[in-house]
Amino acid sequence: MALLELRGVSRVYGGAGAPVHALRDVDLDIELGEFVAIVGPSGGGKTTLLSILGCLDAPTGGTYRIDGEGVPAREGAALTALRARTFGFIFQGFHLLEQRAARDSVELGLLYLGVPRAERARRAARAAETVGMADRLTTTAALLSGGQRQRLAIARATATGAPVVLADEPTGNLDSASGARVMAELQRLHREGTAVVVVTHSAEVAALADRVVQIADGRVSAPPARQNPPVAEGTAPRAHRLRTGDVVRDAAASLRSRMRQSLALGLTVALTVGLLVTTLGFEASARAQVDATFDAHANREVTVSWTAGSDAPPHAPEPARAVEALDAMPGVSAVAVVRDYGELSVGSMLGGQTVAGPYAVAVHAAVGRLAVATDAEMRWAPHADHTVGKGEVLVGAALAARLQLAPLADAPVIEVAGRELVVTGILESSARLPELAGQVIVSPDDAPDHEPNRNRALIMTTPGAAQQVGTRVARVLDAFQPEQYSVERPADPRTLRAEVQEGVRVALIGFTGLAALVAVLSLANSVAAAVGARRAELGLRRALGARAGHLAGLVITETGLLGAAGGVVGLFAGFAAILVFTVLHRWMPVFDLRLAPLAVLAGCVIGCASAVVGAVRAARVRPADALRQ
Ligand code: ADP
Ligand code: MG
Repeated sequence: MALLELRGVSRVYGGAGAPVHALRDVDLDIELGEFVAIVGPSGGGKTTLLSILGCLDAPTGGTYRIDGEGVPAREGAALTALRARTFGFIFQGFHLLEQRAARDSVELGLLYLGVPRAERARRAARAAETVGMADRLTTTAALLSGGQRQRLAIARATATGAPVVLADEPTGNLDSASGARVMAELQRLHREGTAVVVVTHSAEVAALADRVVQIADGRVSAPPARQNPPVAEGTAPRAHRLRTGDVVRDAAASLRSRMRQSLALGLTVALTVGLLVTTLGFEASARAQVDATFDAHANREVTVSWTAGSDAPPHAPEPARAVEALDAMPGVSAVAVVRDYGELSVGSMLGGQTVAGPYAVAVHAAVGRLAVATDAEMRWAPHADHTVGKGEVLVGAALAARLQLAPLADAPVIEVAGRELVVTGILESSARLPELAGQVIVSPDDAPDHEPNRNRALIMTTPGAAQQVGTRVARVLDAFQPEQYSVERPADPRTLRAEVQEGVRVALIGFTGLAALVAVLSLANSVAAAVGARRAELGLRRALGARAGHLAGLVITETGLLGAAGGVVGLFAGFAAILVFTVLHRWMPVFDLRLAPLAVLAGCVIGCASAVVGAVRAARVRPADALRQ
């Protein structure tokens, strides 16, 4: 029984319209260890025959047995493994991994046989050594001469220990000296027990063979085998699962071998991820900024009002008592209770005479830390104790000007509803109660005789505590009738922020999503184009034992790696953009560290999503077509 056995094999190319009969009813046996030359005119069917022998292509009719077993009709794991274990391939066009180290080409078949890394290196070195290429393994394949490259291809074909080497015009692209060297290597293989099938135009080459098979117009006329050849020991290793580490290293090396293209693709991912990080990260900074602004101003002010006089709640606290109770609340940093007495006549006095006014001016009596609680700027008389005591009065700056007050050092006197009081301080301005600039504030001891119109507790809280203080303050003032106290507090910043930012957020995320979509589409296009340009390499990988899924996996791994790298670069670019923006706006930059893994993940996702079309294309590469040139 022959090792390879074709019976009645035909191969018809093309559809029903104009079929090409490349092989017609071919019977052919190849024995173990035989050296067979296939000769014939161009277009006669030599390459087609070799493709079918090597299981790179399937016959359209007839049967093919290897070692007595029928060859699986469909591409699949079984056929791929059979091909990888049985055959080594040498092509006229070399088909090396051109931009990678020579070693990678020699190791490629071993990789797909699942041989561990160290063992691959050892066997590649040995195979290279036998063809005199041991010292060239680290050289980029494209830099080698034609003869060297073909010897490298021989090393690749033999490194797996395949029992059959199929060579399609291996000397066709070489000068005669290089060609002779290559033929000598093939003869050596044959002597060592490998079956060699070589397609050739050269009569010299054919003369070296045990047997010459003529093929013309798809028909074979083969003289019988000379004699029984020696038996080869085919010791192809069993196919294993590919190791993840090998896949990643292979993908990384593949990317490096196409540096410019890889950079362009990686940059696209980096830009997209950078945009994503900038928009999301910018949002964190903006949010912090809103918080800070909010807390610094309105978010700290709580005002409680309650009626005075006969309508007053029966258990309402005295002002001094109210200040004491509120001051004790957690989150309160300053309190003043202000009682409003309405407009009274106020005039400036000098030596018992009214020198300016009187004017109708709003008068308040205050207890507590008025300046802090109203966020006011004060100017005190020298030696004043910074409070308003009995016989003293505070005057708003605008009113002070109207009253033509003497300097504070001269202790000017004004008359408020008939009482003469010494001005000890000027209220320059108040952020919280700007109207105070035109009004006067007296101590409770000098309060007018009539009941006040209302009481107000002005509370300044610690940052962020306004909500909490606001909910509890009425009960603290009056546990019996808290509903009698009206509390004004700022809008809940969380709700406010949500309202303000939701629109912006949706717009930003929508915009970024659109950018990501455009990036994926453009990347998908580039990746698919790159796969098209790499058909020969992918076909070679199939010939050497890669399954369709391996090629799809290679494309996805490559693009995924690019995506991850682009994600990292994009992350830093995005952070840099946020930094620049926030510094320019004198904001506090906020880096949400959760963005770091998110960015890398986004890069991977963009990469993998872009790889889908290319991966499908790669999986569909048919080795026989891809390896023709
Ligand atoms: P050889 O290697 O002897 O030059 P081939 O096996 O390459 O011959 O081709 C045999 C015939 O099949 C030729 O006529 C060629 O044009 C045709 N052929 C080869 N491949 C294809 C294909 N993929 N589609 C259609 N025709 C093909
Ligand atoms: Mg050919």
